[in-house]
Amino acid sequence: MHQLKMVADQRRDRPKLKLDDFHLLRTLGTGSFGRVHLAQSRHNGRFYAIKVLKKTEVVRLKQVEHTNNEKHILESVANPFLVNLWGTFQDDKCLYMVMDYVPGGELFSVLRKSKRFPDHVARFYAAEVVLAIEYLHSKDIAYRDLKPENLLLDAAGHIKITDFGFAKKVTEITWTLCGTPDYLAPEVIQSKGYSKSVDWWSLGVLIFEMLAGYPPFYDDDHLKLYEKIIQGKIHWPSYFDPHAKDLTKRLLTSDLSRRYGNLKNGAQDIKNHAWFLGVDFDRVALRQIRPPFVPNIRSDGDASHFDKYPENTEEYGVAGPDPYRDMFPDF
Ligand code: AMP
Repeated sequence: MHQLKMVADQRRDRPKLKLDDFHLLRTLGTGSFGRVHLAQSRHNGRFYAIKVLKKTEVVRLKQVEHTNNEKHILESVANPFLVNLWGTFQDDKCLYMVMDYVPGGELFSVLRKSKRFPDHVARFYAAEVVLAIEYLHSKDIAYRDLKPENLLLDAAGHIKITDFGFAKKVTEITWTLCGTPDYLAPEVIQSKGYSKSVDWWSLGVLIFEMLAGYPPFYDDDHLKLYEKIIQGKIHWPSYFDPHAKDLTKRLLTSDLSRRYGNLKNGAQDIKNHAWFLGVDFDRVALRQIRPPFVPNIRSDGDASHFDKYPENTEEYGVAGPDPYRDMFPDF
């Protein structure tokens, strides 16, 4: 924890970052409102991931509040399983978020390559995710977008959660329909008003998908998918370990008064569940459990674990009219 405090102090004390401080290199991933680039500091040669969002797109897609939330929340957290934000800045057209570069790629890619994970592999990733979500909830933050695409692997193979675009400080209930269809909790779909417990539902979807290789509810048609989620009927593959099935069922429970994670013992009920028997969560927190898969990283800026994307030809940092600056006062 001492180290994390140092990171937070360093973050605060640094001068404001700017585009000129970095060489922007290849694209690592794209989201609906922008893209994430690998970048190298012109000062210290270190590699970073810079998320670039076009203000016009953020405004057009009504994501101003979510984007400001993302910045404030990332700034306010410090946890080994969450990506670290070094700073933000903006120019006339874009917003920039400078994060640690997490070189191992998305858990999604590892999962698709492996088809499905054996129990001990799924358990390793699930245990780290439980601690990350528990930490966020202790700060009254709902993450709201848990899925394998947002779980990156660091050089040693531990989890780092990225993309806080839907994260929100929630002390009361909230209503926004956001997240990724396959991972949406029934109460979000039904516009019932919901809270942090949606993350425990998504953990259930994640554990199922890691073990099965596909999510528990699936349909190309979103309306049919939502019906399936609300009905909550799951076809359990025969190879599922009974404890894995039991825990997943207790997470994929639409009744909030019965959903694990949401009861009076919080995340402890999940950690104490038989599927996690033998897992020492104190050692998990210290990243002392050996990861099942260690990414092969040839050099610091190696981006071979990320898919290739067509590069945009647009230049960043070009001056022009900037009608939206006031909407992002803290960038
Ligand atoms: P996002 O728009 O935040 O979901 O990011 C889109 C994609 O960019 C992610 O799914 C990752 O593949 C990649 N990405 C995001 N943040 C990082 C990071 N800190 N390090 C490496 N890749 C990242």
